Amino acid sequence: MLRFAPSPTGDMHIGNLRAAIFNYIIAKQKGEKFLIRIEDTDFSRNIEGKDTEILSILNLFGLLWDELVYQSHNFERHRNFADYLIKHDKAFYCYCTKEFLEKKKQEALDLRIPFRYDDAWAEIQKKDNPKPVVRLRGSFEPISFYDEIKGRLEFYPNELDSFVILREDGIPTYNFACACDDMIYDISFIVRGEDHVSNTPKQILIQKSLDYQKQLGYAHLPIILGESGKKMSKRDSASSVSWLLGQGFLPQAIINYLIGMGNHTPVEIFTLKDALEWFDIANIAKSPVKFDLKRLRYVNREHLKRLNESEFSLLLQTQDITIGALGKLYLEEASTLNEIREKLGLIFSPKDIDVTYEGESFKEECLKLFEVLWGMSMQGESFIEYESFKNEAMKRSALKGKKFFKPLRILLTGESHGVDLNELYPYLRFYFKDILRIKGEK
Ligand code: GLU
Repeated sequence: MLRFAPSPTGDMHIGNLRAAIFNYIIAKQKGEKFLIRIEDTDFSRNIEGKDTEILSILNLFGLLWDELVYQSHNFERHRNFADYLIKHDKAFYCYCTKEFLEKKKQEALDLRIPFRYDDAWAEIQKKDNPKPVVRLRGSFEPISFYDEIKGRLEFYPNELDSFVILREDGIPTYNFACACDDMIYDISFIVRGEDHVSNTPKQILIQKSLDYQKQLGYAHLPIILGESGKKMSKRDSASSVSWLLGQGFLPQAIINYLIGMGNHTPVEIFTLKDALEWFDIANIAKSPVKFDLKRLRYVNREHLKRLNESEFSLLLQTQDITIGALGKLYLEEASTLNEIREKLGLIFSPKDIDVTYEGESFKEECLKLFEVLWGMSMQGESFIEYESFKNEAMKRSALKGKKFFKPLRILLTGESHGVDLNELYPYLRFYFKDILRIKGEK
């Protein structure tokens, strides 16, 4: 089984989503199940509702799970594992107070040596401290594992001193709960962010101490850098999946972009289903990758182009297929649904003709043409072709060249540049009564 293990402590970051996508793909490729494990062990940091938000995002992206568990529901089993370890002398109670450990840390700092817990301290304060924690005995041998992206990684015993697995209130630590659950659910392979590299030897040690034989596979994903070249933080809005969705990036485009990041893909534009055929985690580049919004915009536009007009209409929240077709034309210049909504919004808003930069007589020309177009629109379906419509409007208004086309474009689209009127007209003509409105006039 593969798993994605989000903590319900904040917004879903694109790095989390990337891990979820890769775990999902590998599960499908191996024919194994995909588990979602909500890692809610840190009660003070859990945010109410984040779990359902994460699940609805996964659902939206088509990352459907076979099983869902909340880590806190397994606390009893984690404690049983801790009891087993204590019984076999692989874990022990540690009565050290926080003050005592702080003092030891300060001493190490003063001596400029790394702080290491010494097992001999465990019971020094037994009389004064009724609330011990449980620590796993550190390793005497190096622990190594093969990372599909980073290659073989080795950790020496001095990096693995005895660490806490149950807190003083009996709540398991992240590493312990995670390692136990990976055993309980028979996880075979783990894809997660590179910030977890140092946790992996601890989790391996926990499983070894529990006499677990299975060797898990690992891939730790390089961090994602923001446009500034620094690690992408919560402050970079583009790092939030909800923000990207809110901007009108399609889930399929975000998936395409995240799979393609630091990767060689056989084609540029693809779906999650396509990626199941060829995705190989070993091809992911070792070095950090920069988040490239421009590239995402390009990928999004390509995915929008693949939608048919009715799909497009639905995304624009209208049943009117003509609006979908009109929106699609704007893919020449817009890359997200929001940008397209903005363009359509301009078409259907009262037009601002009170501008001086187009020349002094511009307003007058607009008003003149407006009357003509209004009159023509009253004649119903007479002008199906753009050519005949344009020629007739020109004749009736007696405007020519720029003095005709500029006002025409403004009156019909609200902008002075853009998609060919020739292309827009076949769709616009159905809505003339809604389109022909001037700001400040009825
Ligand atoms: N809850 C951890 C996180 O969100 C999961 C780490 C893991 O996949 O083991 O970073």
